[in-house]
Amino acid sequence: MQQQLILYLACAWTLCAGSGDWCYQSQFSCDHQCNAPENWDHASRNCAGRSQSPVNIVTRKTMKDDRLTPLKFENYQHIFRGLIKNNGHSVQVGVSHPSTISGGGLSTTYKAVQFHLHWGNNGGPGSEHTIDGEQYPMELHIVHMKSQYSDLGTALRDKEGVAVLGFFYEMSNSPNRKYESLINALRNIKPTNGNTTLSPIALAELIPPEQNLTSYYRYKGSLTTPDCSESVVWTVFENPIPLSMDQLKAFSELRFQNGKPLVKNFRPLQPLNGRTVFRSGGAAVMISSALLVVALAVGLEVSQPN
Ligand SMILES: [Zn+2]
Repeated sequence: MQQQLILYLACAWTLCAGSGDWCYQSQFSCDHQCNAPENWDHASRNCAGRSQSPVNIVTRKTMKDDRLTPLKFENYQHIFRGLIKNNGHSVQVGVSHPSTISGGGLSTTYKAVQFHLHWGNNGGPGSEHTIDGEQYPMELHIVHMKSQYSDLGTALRDKEGVAVLGFFYEMSNSPNRKYESLINALRNIKPTNGNTTLSPIALAELIPPEQNLTSYYRYKGSLTTPDCSESVVWTVFENPIPLSMDQLKAFSELRFQNGKPLVKNFRPLQPLNGRTVFRSGGAAVMISSALLVVALAVGLEVSQPN
């Protein structure tokens, strides 16, 4: 009897929750069942936590923090030949040289470990974070851990062990030449587990110039994939990186393990649950249009010559 019950429960689990690995909704199908985002807490309890990422950043609710000065980037100019891999959830590039970030309200120095991306379908909405409800076509995550640690596993057990820099992309009319190395490599890693060596690049080439990085948002959150550890200090930059439509579409050529297009690999938005999102001195606040009309009217009144 008990054995039957166990068997029944095992079947119900498979039918309702999917079985095996975690996946994005875009990968889920009846013949390939997996734990889609609403069931990630079956893969890891952390995913049901109260400080999860990504979040929608409502700019008028952010709090300005004068300690959020420009970050200090060190060795971001270092040119390296990284290994790029389709890991079945994203494309990821390992960073093995000591590129670090500090300042900007961070409690210590963090070193870069890897970077990866989240995107939509053929240039459609695909970022994880959103700003006032706007979803950008893609988002870059440069993952760092405190310099004192030698592996990410240890860093993830520290409440502030990991610092991720998030950058949005926007569609531009001309291709971004600095992305040629990365985008050319995608052709060689279409199937899951495909990997190849990138032609030499520097992290600094992938992100906007330093003088355009003074506006950013900061909050405490989690990894956006299982195990969803709540050990991430998030920095989300306002200034997007330009890519042409063709460059954005190249990411949709990649494949999940089951052969379906690797697209829409972003986690659904998570509730803030009372957390505050802080903004640096430079970050813009969206003024409501009603307020703007009043401000303009007052402005006109004042400027009317008597
Ligand atoms: Zn990510």
